[in-house]
Order: sequence, then structure tokens, then C-alpha cells
Amino acid sequence: MTRRGVAILGSTGSIGTAALRVLERHSDRFRVSALTAFNNAPLLEEQSARYAPSFVGIVNNGAPAHRRWTTGPHCLVEAATRDDVDIVLNAVVGAAGLDATLAALEAGKRVALANKESLVMAGELAADAARRGGGEIIPVDSEHSAILQCLAGRPSSEVRRIVLTASGGPFRDWTRERLEQATVDDALCHPTWRMGRKITIDSATLANKALEVIEAHFLFGVPYDRIEVVVHPQSIVHSFVEFVDGSVLAQLGTPSMELPVLYALTHPDRVEDAGVRPYDPVASSPLTFERVREDDFPALRLGIEAGRRGGASPAIFNAANEEAVALFLDGHITFTDIPRTVEAALVELGSLAAGSRDALLAADDAARHHVRESCPC
Ligand code: NAD
Ligand code: MG
Repeated sequence: MTRRGVAILGSTGSIGTAALRVLERHSDRFRVSALTAFNNAPLLEEQSARYAPSFVGIVNNGAPAHRRWTTGPHCLVEAATRDDVDIVLNAVVGAAGLDATLAALEAGKRVALANKESLVMAGELAADAARRGGGEIIPVDSEHSAILQCLAGRPSSEVRRIVLTASGGPFRDWTRERLEQATVDDALCHPTWRMGRKITIDSATLANKALEVIEAHFLFGVPYDRIEVVVHPQSIVHSFVEFVDGSVLAQLGTPSMELPVLYALTHPDRVEDAGVRPYDPVASSPLTFERVREDDFPALRLGIEAGRRGGASPAIFNAANEEAVALFLDGHITFTDIPRTVEAALVELGSLAAGSRDALLAADDAARHHVRESCPC
């Protein structure tokens, strides 16, 4: 069997390291062709020694001259477009993943996409790049992997509704008053998933679920009024699809990102794997579902409205959110300031152009600038 070459962008992160565990179990099918990281040179060095990729890139510092590593932000696109790469696992966090997603699609690669931010920013451009270059996106996000598996190739015209599940994050049952006092440590304490810091904060504000609604809209071509969110604290049901005949399918499993990572690599095939603890229906009972407290977690509504508005609004939502999360993590603003700050940026910048990558990056930049300017720090 010819082994498929995989580039892992963001190999030192939570998804990147999970992906390397998966690839190690399936080294008969896949080889690690390229690795990139932001600045964690020691871990990248270790990974490079272990997996012997033909390309290693680091964005920022930490690469002494003796290493034959490519440095600077462009290393992502280089890794994503190499001839020995068939699948690009984009596990970079934030808008920094955009160019690599577009370039990989344009170069005809399969993009196993964890970096939802790039699709949220530029869903239409990604679709154009895929059409031109013959690439495809297979989602790594657990909800979207679930939906893809439930759809099993059926067209969007047969879908009545998509229901994305949300764990509800660490503040699911906190009162509005208590949310005002939430600390960084409180927000980083996710009940069911161990993830990078940015997505963990997004899960606490529900901005992550807004990004996922937009991601689902672009991936599956389903209009916003047919995408819903329900809180499911156990994170066992990864999402539902209701078809036009009223039948509802769900995909379930132990909460581990190794499952959707593996599926994104092998789709539409399934391969034998025993890396993840088997699902035990009795031990994980009961499975419960709740309505989202939309008034107490306004980031969800803000993001969905930005998605409906279209144009540059999703990119503005995403960039303002990234900046606001960074300010919160640095102790400059409170938890409940995050959606307030994002809303102010959306109100101020609502109608920017979005026809090209450069226009989207200008909107992204304007949103970041607006958030930083409005910071009391
Ligand atoms: P993380 O912070 O653990 O890792 C991020 C990786 O990206 C690191 O390897 C880092 O070196 C690299 N990186 C960071 N900034 C960069 C930049 N400016 N340029 C290039 N590389 C950069 O994050 P994570 O939790 O692994 O999440 C990665 C992506 O996957 C995010 O888009 C997130 O929303 C998505 N995702 C994560 C999970 C999860 O369980 N962790 C689940 C679903 C989706
Ligand atoms: Mg998700």
C-alpha cells in the first residue's frame, strides 16, 4: 500500500499531538511528511527526531542555524503545498491558519480541518479555491465529523435540520451575576475536553459554538435557520442530523479528538483502531440535553448574526473574538467583557468588504485594532 503523506500544521498543540498519536498507530497507511509549530522548538525537535519528516517549519524564533528548518509564517503554506503531502491537517489556532487552508485547497490537497477560524473567515474563498484546485475539506471538529458521518453522502436538500451539541463549558450552570466574577483559571477548567487555551475560553463563552454554526453552514451548505444548538454536558453525542422524513441520526463516542482526526484521514473509509476507550452506554448514562441560555452567553447569538450577515462580518467576529480572548487571558478585561468587546467591534465595522483574501485580512486587522483601542489597559 502506498503511504499517504501528511503535513501537520500546529504539531505541538493539543490537536497536533493527538494527530501524531493517531499517525503512529497507522504508520502502515500514513507517513509524517511535514511538521510546523509556532515557537515550541524543543517539542518540535523531539517530534522531528521521532517522525523524520522531510520538512520542518517554525514560525517564530528557536531555530539555531544548524537546523535545516524553514522559519517564518510562510512555512505553513510551504508545508501545505509540498508534493510529498497528500493530506494537510491544519491544527493551527486562529486566523493564522487561513493562507495554508486556501493554498492547500488550491493545490488539490485534502485539508483535515481543525482550524475552523479559516473557514469562518473565508468560507466562500475556500469553496472557490477547492473548486479551482480540486482540494477538499474534511472536518476534524468533533461536531462536524459527526454530521459528515450522519449525512453519509446524502444531499443537503434531504436535511431538515442540523443540531450541534455543546458541552456548555465550565459555566453552564453559573448565574449571570457569578459570570461577572469568572477568573481565567475558572474559564480554563473545561469539564469534558482538554484543549488549547483559546478554544477553551471560546467554549466557556460559547463563541466556539458560534464559530461551529458558521463552519457547519459552509461545510454542508445548510442555511442558518436550519442549524440549531443544544447543550449536552456529557459530550457523548457529537451532533444530530434530522432528515426531511423526520428520521434523526446522531454519532456518539467517547470524547476524544483522536476519533475525528482518524476519520478525517481515512474518510469515507473506516479503519481498525483501538486507541480510544470504547463507549460504554451504561457507564456514560444518563445522556441529558438542555436549551442554551442565550441571554447569558451572548457570543453565540453575536456570531450567528455575523454569519447570517455574511460578507466580512464572520471575519470581524472571529478577529475581535481572538483579540478579546487574548486580552482576557492577559488579565486586561473580564470574562463578560469578551462578548461586549466583540459586539462593539461588529457594530462599528459591520459593513466592510469581503471579496478577496486581502479584503478579509483588512477587516481582520481593523477588528483587532478596534478591540485593542477600546481596551482600558
Ligand atoms: P493549541 O493552542 O493547543 O495548538 C495550536 C498549535 O498551533 C500549536 O502547535 C502552535 O505552535 C501553533 N500556532 C499557534 N499560533 C500560531 C501561528 N500564529 N502561526 C503558526 N502556528 C501557530 O490549539 P488546539 O487546541 O490544538 O486547537 C487548534 C485548532 O483546532 C483551533 O482552531 C481549534 O479551534 C481547533 N479545535 C481544537 C480542538 C481540541 O480539542 N483541542 C477541538 C476542535 C477544534
Ligand atoms: Mg467542536
